[in-house]
Amino acid sequence: MTHYYLSLEDEERLHKFASSLENSQRFMLGYPVASDIQCPEFLPFFKWLINNVGDPFVDPLYALHSKSFEREILAFFADLFRAPEKYWGYVTSGGTEANMYALLSAREQFPEGILYYSDATHYSIAKIAFVLRIQAIAVKTTEKGEMDYADLRQHINLNKDKPAIVVANIGTTMTEAKDDIHSIQYVMQQEGKKDFYIHCDAAMSGAYASFLQPRPAFDLSDGADSISVSGHKFLGCPLPCGILIAKSSCRSWMEQQVSYIASSDTTLSGSRDGHAIIYLWCVIRSMGKEGLKSRLQYSLQTADYLLRQLQVVGIESWRNPGAITVMIKNLDQNIIRKWQLATQNGWSHIICMPSVERDRIDEFLMDCTNAHTSMLSNRPHNEEYAVINAA
Ligand SMILES: *Cc1c(COP(=O)(O)O)cnc(C)c1O
Repeated sequence: MTHYYLSLEDEERLHKFASSLENSQRFMLGYPVASDIQCPEFLPFFKWLINNVGDPFVDPLYALHSKSFEREILAFFADLFRAPEKYWGYVTSGGTEANMYALLSAREQFPEGILYYSDATHYSIAKIAFVLRIQAIAVKTTEKGEMDYADLRQHINLNKDKPAIVVANIGTTMTEAKDDIHSIQYVMQQEGKKDFYIHCDAAMSGAYASFLQPRPAFDLSDGADSISVSGHKFLGCPLPCGILIAKSSCRSWMEQQVSYIASSDTTLSGSRDGHAIIYLWCVIRSMGKEGLKSRLQYSLQTADYLLRQLQVVGIESWRNPGAITVMIKNLDQNIIRKWQLATQNGWSHIICMPSVERDRIDEFLMDCTNAHTSMLSNRPHNEEYAVINAA
Protein backbone atom coordinates (compact mmCIF):
# COMPACT_ATOMS: atom_id res chain seq x y z
CA MET A 1 0.00 0.00 0.00
CA THR A 2 1.29 3.47 -0.87
CA HIS A 3 1.46 5.98 1.93
CA TYR A 4 1.03 9.66 1.30
CA TYR A 5 2.33 12.21 3.76
CA LEU A 6 1.61 15.88 4.35
CA SER A 7 4.48 18.31 4.26
CA LEU A 8 5.54 19.91 7.55
CA GLU A 9 4.07 23.17 6.31
CA ASP A 10 0.71 21.60 5.66
CA GLU A 11 0.73 19.94 9.05
CA GLU A 12 1.50 23.29 10.62
CA ARG A 13 -1.46 24.81 8.75
CA LEU A 14 -3.82 22.17 10.14
CA HIS A 15 -2.43 22.70 13.59
CA LYS A 16 -3.15 26.41 13.38
CA PHE A 17 -6.62 25.72 12.07
CA ALA A 18 -7.32 23.48 15.07
CA SER A 19 -6.32 26.23 17.51
CA SER A 20 -8.47 28.76 15.72
CA LEU A 21 -11.43 26.37 15.98
CA GLU A 22 -10.77 25.96 19.68
CA ASN A 23 -10.75 29.72 20.08
CA SER A 24 -13.92 30.26 18.01
CA GLN A 25 -15.73 27.65 20.07
CA ARG A 26 -14.78 29.30 23.33
CA PHE A 27 -16.38 32.59 22.21
CA MET A 28 -19.50 31.05 20.71
CA LEU A 29 -22.77 32.39 22.09
CA GLY A 30 -24.81 33.35 19.05
CA TYR A 31 -25.44 30.15 17.09
CA PRO A 32 -27.31 27.07 18.25
CA VAL A 33 -24.47 24.60 18.50
CA ALA A 34 -23.92 22.41 21.54
CA SER A 35 -20.35 21.28 22.05
CA ASP A 36 -20.70 19.62 25.43
CA ILE A 37 -21.38 16.06 24.31
CA GLN A 38 -18.35 13.88 23.88
CA CYS A 39 -18.94 10.54 22.18
CA PRO A 40 -15.41 9.20 21.81
CA GLU A 41 -16.92 5.81 20.94
CA PHE A 42 -17.84 7.06 17.51
CA LEU A 43 -14.39 8.27 16.48
CA PRO A 44 -12.95 4.86 15.45
CA PHE A 45 -15.72 4.49 12.87
CA PHE A 46 -14.11 7.12 10.63
CA LYS A 47 -11.86 4.34 9.43
CA TRP A 48 -14.70 3.04 7.26
CA LEU A 49 -16.89 4.57 4.61
CA ILE A 50 -20.29 4.08 6.20
CA ASN A 51 -22.98 4.80 3.65
CA ASN A 52 -26.72 4.47 4.31
CA VAL A 53 -27.79 4.74 0.69
CA GLY A 54 -31.52 4.34 0.07
CA ASP A 55 -34.50 3.82 2.36
CA PRO A 56 -33.59 3.36 6.05
CA PHE A 57 -35.97 0.43 6.32
CA VAL A 58 -34.47 -1.52 3.41
CA ASP A 59 -30.91 -2.77 3.86
CA PRO A 60 -28.82 -2.31 0.71
CA LEU A 61 -26.35 -4.78 -0.75
CA TYR A 62 -23.45 -2.52 0.25
CA ALA A 63 -22.90 -3.91 3.71
CA LEU A 64 -21.03 -1.02 5.35
CA HIS A 65 -24.10 0.86 6.53
CA SER A 66 -25.55 1.78 9.93
CA LYS A 67 -29.27 1.43 9.12
CA SER A 68 -30.07 -0.65 12.19
CA PHE A 69 -28.87 2.32 14.28
CA GLU A 70 -30.76 4.71 12.04
CA ARG A 71 -34.02 2.83 12.62
CA GLU A 72 -33.49 3.08 16.39
CA ILE A 73 -32.98 6.84 16.09
CA LEU A 74 -36.17 7.14 14.06
CA ALA A 75 -38.07 5.07 16.63
CA PHE A 76 -36.79 7.30 19.44
CA PHE A 77 -37.94 10.50 17.73
CA ALA A 78 -41.18 8.97 16.48
CA ASP A 79 -41.97 8.23 20.13
CA LEU A 80 -40.85 11.70 21.25
CA PHE A 81 -43.02 13.30 18.54
CA ARG A 82 -45.99 10.97 19.25
CA ALA A 83 -46.10 9.60 15.71
CA PRO A 84 -48.74 7.03 14.75
CA GLU A 85 -47.67 3.40 14.84
CA LYS A 86 -46.88 3.55 11.14
CA TYR A 87 -44.45 6.34 10.48
CA TRP A 88 -41.61 7.02 8.14
CA GLY A 89 -38.51 9.19 8.15
CA TYR A 90 -34.79 9.22 7.66
CA VAL A 91 -31.63 10.90 8.85
CA THR A 92 -30.93 13.72 6.40
CA SER A 93 -27.95 15.90 5.61
CA GLY A 94 -29.52 18.69 7.72
CA GLY A 95 -32.64 20.71 8.44
CA THR A 96 -32.92 21.94 4.86
CA GLU A 97 -33.10 18.46 3.33
CA ALA A 98 -35.67 17.36 5.93
CA ASN A 99 -37.77 20.46 5.17
CA MET A 100 -37.43 19.83 1.47
CA TYR A 101 -38.59 16.23 1.72
CA ALA A 102 -41.60 17.35 3.78
CA LEU A 103 -42.61 20.06 1.31
CA LEU A 104 -42.11 17.71 -1.64
CA SER A 105 -44.43 15.30 0.07
CA ALA A 106 -46.97 18.10 0.65
CA ARG A 107 -46.74 19.24 -2.96
CA GLU A 108 -47.24 15.70 -4.30
CA GLN A 109 -50.30 15.37 -2.09
CA PHE A 110 -51.59 18.81 -3.13
CA PRO A 111 -50.02 19.84 -6.48
CA GLU A 112 -52.14 23.01 -6.52
CA GLY A 113 -51.42 23.84 -2.89
CA ILE A 114 -50.21 27.23 -1.74
CA LEU A 115 -47.43 27.36 0.83
CA TYR A 116 -47.94 29.66 3.83
CA TYR A 117 -45.03 30.43 6.10
CA SER A 118 -44.45 33.21 8.59
CA ASP A 119 -41.97 35.95 7.82
CA ALA A 120 -39.82 34.76 10.75
CA THR A 121 -39.30 31.40 9.04
CA HIS A 122 -35.83 30.05 8.29
CA TYR A 123 -34.49 31.02 4.84
CA SER A 124 -34.46 27.39 3.70
CA ILE A 125 -38.25 27.42 3.22
CA ALA A 126 -38.25 30.20 0.59
CA LYS A 127 -35.43 28.42 -1.22
CA ILE A 128 -37.34 25.12 -1.17
CA ALA A 129 -40.49 26.82 -2.49
CA PHE A 130 -38.33 28.15 -5.34
CA VAL A 131 -36.76 24.76 -6.10
CA LEU A 132 -40.06 22.86 -5.93
CA ARG A 133 -41.94 25.66 -7.70
CA ILE A 134 -44.60 25.97 -5.02
CA GLN A 135 -46.51 29.25 -4.88
CA ALA A 136 -45.71 30.74 -1.49
CA ILE A 137 -47.18 33.48 0.70
CA ALA A 138 -45.42 35.03 3.69
CA VAL A 139 -47.68 35.49 6.70
CA LYS A 140 -47.13 38.28 9.24
CA THR A 141 -45.73 37.60 12.69
CA THR A 142 -46.29 39.16 16.07
CA GLU A 143 -43.57 41.34 17.55
CA LYS A 144 -42.17 38.28 19.31
CA GLY A 145 -41.94 36.25 16.09
CA GLU A 146 -45.01 33.99 16.32
CA MET A 147 -47.28 33.53 13.31
CA ASP A 148 -50.19 35.99 13.16
CA TYR A 149 -53.11 33.55 12.81
CA ALA A 150 -55.57 36.30 11.80
CA ASP A 151 -53.32 37.17 8.88
CA LEU A 152 -53.03 33.47 7.99
CA ARG A 153 -56.80 33.24 8.02
CA GLN A 154 -57.11 36.21 5.67
CA HIS A 155 -54.73 34.64 3.15
CA ILE A 156 -56.49 31.28 3.36
CA ASN A 157 -59.80 33.07 2.85
CA LEU A 158 -58.51 34.81 -0.28
CA ASN A 159 -57.44 31.44 -1.73
CA LYS A 160 -60.52 29.39 -0.93
CA ASP A 161 -60.20 26.98 -3.85
CA LYS A 162 -56.55 26.02 -3.25
CA PRO A 163 -55.25 23.49 -0.73
CA ALA A 164 -52.99 24.89 2.00
CA ILE A 165 -49.49 23.81 2.93
CA VAL A 166 -48.46 25.47 6.20
CA VAL A 167 -45.02 25.57 7.81
CA ALA A 168 -45.17 25.92 11.58
CA ASN A 169 -41.98 26.92 13.38
CA ILE A 170 -40.94 25.34 16.64
CA GLY A 171 -38.21 27.75 17.45
CA THR A 172 -37.75 30.51 14.87
CA THR A 173 -34.20 31.32 13.93
CA MET A 174 -34.01 34.73 15.55
CA THR A 175 -36.32 34.81 18.60
CA GLU A 176 -37.09 31.08 19.07
CA ALA A 177 -40.82 31.78 18.79
CA LYS A 178 -43.12 28.76 18.58
CA ASP A 179 -46.15 28.60 16.30
CA ASP A 180 -49.19 26.76 17.65
CA ILE A 181 -50.47 23.90 15.50
CA HIS A 182 -53.85 23.91 17.26
CA SER A 183 -54.35 27.56 16.25
CA ILE A 184 -53.39 26.73 12.66
CA GLN A 185 -55.89 23.86 12.63
CA TYR A 186 -58.52 26.16 14.07
CA VAL A 187 -57.97 28.59 11.17
CA MET A 188 -58.50 25.68 8.73
CA GLN A 189 -61.68 24.70 10.55
CA GLN A 190 -63.01 28.26 10.55
CA GLU A 191 -62.36 28.53 6.81
CA GLY A 192 -63.81 25.09 6.10
CA LYS A 193 -60.47 24.00 4.61
CA LYS A 194 -60.27 20.21 4.32
CA ASP A 195 -57.20 19.86 2.09
CA PHE A 196 -54.19 20.97 4.05
CA TYR A 197 -50.77 19.78 5.12
CA ILE A 198 -48.86 21.04 8.15
CA HIS A 199 -45.10 20.68 8.33
CA CYS A 200 -43.41 21.54 11.60
CA ASP A 201 -39.90 22.96 11.22
CA ALA A 202 -38.49 22.05 14.63
CA ALA A 203 -34.83 22.22 13.59
CA MET A 204 -34.11 24.49 16.53
CA SER A 205 -36.35 23.29 19.39
CA GLY A 206 -37.59 19.83 18.36
CA ALA A 207 -35.13 18.00 20.59
CA TYR A 208 -36.58 19.59 23.76
CA ALA A 209 -40.03 21.00 22.91
CA SER A 210 -41.76 17.90 24.33
CA PHE A 211 -40.35 18.65 27.79
CA LEU A 212 -41.43 22.28 28.00
CA GLN A 213 -44.12 23.34 30.48
CA PRO A 214 -46.59 24.29 29.11
CA ARG A 215 -45.98 21.92 26.24
CA PRO A 216 -46.28 23.62 22.82
CA ALA A 217 -48.64 22.01 20.26
CA PHE A 218 -46.16 20.88 17.60
CA ASP A 219 -45.96 17.12 17.13
CA LEU A 220 -47.69 14.48 15.01
CA SER A 221 -50.43 13.89 17.60
CA ASP A 222 -51.04 17.63 17.69
CA GLY A 223 -51.70 17.51 13.95
CA ALA A 224 -48.37 17.90 12.12
CA ASP A 225 -47.95 15.68 9.06
CA SER A 226 -44.17 15.83 9.33
CA ILE A 227 -41.48 17.22 11.63
CA SER A 228 -37.86 18.07 11.00
CA VAL A 229 -35.26 18.45 13.72
CA SER A 230 -31.60 19.27 13.50
CA GLY A 231 -28.95 16.80 14.68
CA HIS A 232 -26.13 19.33 15.00
CA LYS A 233 -27.85 21.94 17.16
CA PHE A 234 -29.17 20.91 20.59
CA LEU A 235 -28.14 17.28 19.97
CA GLY A 236 -24.55 18.38 19.39
CA CYS A 237 -23.53 16.17 16.47
CA PRO A 238 -20.22 17.49 15.06
CA LEU A 239 -21.36 16.50 11.55
CA PRO A 240 -24.29 18.45 10.09
CA CYS A 241 -27.39 16.23 9.95
CA GLY A 242 -31.14 16.30 10.48
CA ILE A 243 -33.98 13.95 11.29
CA LEU A 244 -37.28 13.77 9.47
CA ILE A 245 -40.28 12.03 11.06
CA ALA A 246 -43.46 11.85 8.99
CA LYS A 247 -46.72 10.01 8.58
CA SER A 248 -46.16 6.87 6.53
CA SER A 249 -48.27 8.39 3.73
CA CYS A 250 -45.35 10.73 3.10
CA ARG A 251 -43.00 7.94 2.11
CA SER A 252 -43.17 6.94 -1.49
CA TRP A 253 -43.40 9.93 -3.81
CA MET A 254 -40.25 9.16 -5.67
CA GLU A 255 -39.83 5.54 -4.80
CA GLN A 256 -37.95 3.45 -7.29
CA GLN A 257 -36.55 0.01 -6.75
CA VAL A 258 -32.92 0.26 -7.74
CA SER A 259 -31.34 -3.06 -8.53
CA TYR A 260 -27.88 -1.47 -8.47
CA ILE A 261 -28.12 -0.78 -4.72
CA ALA A 262 -30.70 -3.50 -4.00
CA SER A 263 -32.62 -1.02 -1.90
CA SER A 264 -35.55 1.25 -2.31
CA ASP A 265 -34.67 4.80 -3.29
CA THR A 266 -37.07 6.96 -1.28
CA THR A 267 -34.74 9.67 -0.02
CA LEU A 268 -33.76 13.01 -1.58
CA SER A 269 -30.05 12.39 -1.28
CA GLY A 270 -28.47 9.21 -2.59
CA SER A 271 -25.47 8.30 -0.46
CA ARG A 272 -26.10 9.27 3.17
CA ASP A 273 -23.62 9.74 6.00
CA GLY A 274 -23.59 6.74 8.31
CA HIS A 275 -21.23 8.33 10.88
CA ALA A 276 -23.59 11.07 12.04
CA ILE A 277 -26.08 8.28 12.69
CA ILE A 278 -23.70 6.43 15.00
CA TYR A 279 -23.12 9.68 16.86
CA LEU A 280 -26.85 10.38 17.25
CA TRP A 281 -27.36 6.84 18.42
CA CYS A 282 -24.66 7.31 21.10
CA VAL A 283 -26.48 10.48 22.19
CA ILE A 284 -29.92 8.93 22.56
CA ARG A 285 -28.58 5.74 24.16
CA SER A 286 -26.38 7.56 26.67
CA MET A 287 -28.76 10.33 27.74
CA GLY A 288 -32.24 9.17 26.74
CA LYS A 289 -35.26 11.40 27.31
CA GLU A 290 -34.19 12.15 30.87
CA GLY A 291 -30.84 13.48 29.71
CA LEU A 292 -32.44 15.72 27.09
CA LYS A 293 -34.82 17.00 29.71
CA SER A 294 -32.10 17.89 32.19
CA ARG A 295 -30.08 19.58 29.44
CA LEU A 296 -33.16 21.68 28.72
CA GLN A 297 -33.50 22.59 32.42
CA TYR A 298 -29.88 23.68 32.48
CA SER A 299 -30.33 25.82 29.36
CA LEU A 300 -33.51 27.44 30.70
CA GLN A 301 -31.73 28.31 33.95
CA THR A 302 -28.85 29.85 32.02
CA ALA A 303 -31.25 31.92 29.90
CA ASP A 304 -33.11 33.02 33.01
CA TYR A 305 -29.89 34.04 34.74
CA LEU A 306 -28.59 35.93 31.71
CA LEU A 307 -31.83 37.86 31.26
CA ARG A 308 -32.01 38.84 34.94
CA GLN A 309 -28.41 40.04 34.97
CA LEU A 310 -28.91 42.08 31.80
CA GLN A 311 -31.91 43.74 33.33
CA VAL A 312 -29.97 44.53 36.48
CA VAL A 313 -27.39 46.36 34.37
CA GLY A 314 -30.22 48.12 32.55
CA ILE A 315 -29.69 46.63 29.09
CA GLU A 316 -32.92 46.22 27.10
CA SER A 317 -33.56 42.48 26.68
CA TRP A 318 -36.31 39.85 26.64
CA ARG A 319 -37.03 36.22 25.80
CA ASN A 320 -39.99 34.20 24.61
CA PRO A 321 -41.63 31.86 27.15
CA GLY A 322 -39.82 28.52 27.24
CA ALA A 323 -37.03 29.82 25.02
CA ILE A 324 -33.31 29.34 25.60
CA THR A 325 -32.68 32.36 23.34
CA VAL A 326 -32.24 35.80 24.90
CA MET A 327 -32.81 38.92 22.76
CA ILE A 328 -30.59 41.93 23.51
CA LYS A 329 -30.85 45.43 22.06
CA ASN A 330 -28.13 47.69 20.67
CA LEU A 331 -25.00 45.77 21.59
CA ASP A 332 -21.59 47.19 20.90
CA GLN A 333 -20.13 46.02 17.53
CA ASN A 334 -17.02 44.66 19.27
CA ILE A 335 -19.17 42.49 21.52
CA ILE A 336 -21.22 41.25 18.55
CA ARG A 337 -18.05 40.24 16.73
CA LYS A 338 -16.27 38.74 19.72
CA TRP A 339 -19.21 36.51 20.69
CA GLN A 340 -20.44 35.79 17.12
CA LEU A 341 -23.93 37.14 17.77
CA ALA A 342 -26.50 37.03 14.95
CA THR A 343 -28.05 40.52 14.79
CA GLN A 344 -31.13 41.85 12.99
CA ASN A 345 -32.64 45.34 13.21
CA GLY A 346 -30.51 46.22 16.21
CA TRP A 347 -31.45 43.09 18.15
CA SER A 348 -28.84 40.41 18.83
CA HIS A 349 -29.44 37.01 20.36
CA ILE A 350 -27.64 34.66 22.68
CA ILE A 351 -28.59 31.02 22.53
CA CYS A 352 -28.06 29.33 25.89
CA MET A 353 -27.12 25.90 24.60
CA PRO A 354 -26.25 23.22 27.20
CA SER A 355 -22.56 23.77 26.43
CA VAL A 356 -22.72 27.41 27.57
CA GLU A 357 -21.26 27.62 31.08
CA ARG A 358 -21.93 30.35 33.68
CA ASP A 359 -18.33 31.55 33.37
CA ARG A 360 -18.82 32.36 29.72
CA ILE A 361 -22.08 34.19 30.44
CA ASP A 362 -20.36 36.15 33.21
CA GLU A 363 -17.51 37.10 30.89
CA PHE A 364 -20.06 38.29 28.32
CA LEU A 365 -21.94 40.25 30.99
CA MET A 366 -18.68 41.87 32.05
CA ASP A 367 -18.10 43.01 28.46
CA CYS A 368 -21.64 44.41 28.37
CA THR A 369 -21.26 46.22 31.68
CA ASN A 370 -17.97 47.77 30.58
CA ALA A 371 -19.40 48.93 27.27
CA HIS A 372 -22.55 50.16 28.98
CA THR A 373 -20.78 52.14 31.71
CA SER A 374 -18.33 53.68 29.27
CA MET A 375 -21.35 54.72 27.21
CA LEU A 376 -23.02 56.21 30.29
CA SER A 377 -19.87 57.96 31.45
CA ASN A 378 -19.42 59.42 27.97
CA ARG A 379 -22.86 60.90 27.98
CA PRO A 380 -22.49 63.68 30.61
CA HIS A 381 -19.19 64.55 29.03
CA ASN A 382 -20.88 64.98 25.65
CA GLU A 383 -23.67 67.01 27.18
CA GLU A 384 -21.17 69.25 28.88
CA TYR A 385 -19.45 69.71 25.58
CA ALA A 386 -22.75 70.58 23.94
CA VAL A 387 -23.45 73.15 26.63
CA ILE A 388 -20.05 74.73 26.21
CA ASN A 389 -20.60 74.87 22.48
CA ALA A 390 -24.00 76.41 22.89
CA ALA A 391 -22.55 79.02 25.19
C1 LIG B 1 -31.01 25.45 11.39
C2 LIG B 1 -32.37 25.55 10.88
C3 LIG B 1 -32.74 25.07 9.60
C4 LIG B 1 -31.77 24.55 8.57
O1 LIG B 1 -30.95 23.58 8.92
P1 LIG B 1 -29.64 23.21 8.09
O2 LIG B 1 -29.16 22.04 8.83
O3 LIG B 1 -28.74 24.39 8.11
O4 LIG B 1 -30.05 22.86 6.70
C5 LIG B 1 -34.07 25.17 9.24
N1 LIG B 1 -34.98 25.71 10.04
C6 LIG B 1 -34.66 26.20 11.26
C7 LIG B 1 -35.73 26.81 12.12
C8 LIG B 1 -33.35 26.14 11.72
O5 LIG B 1 -33.06 26.64 12.94
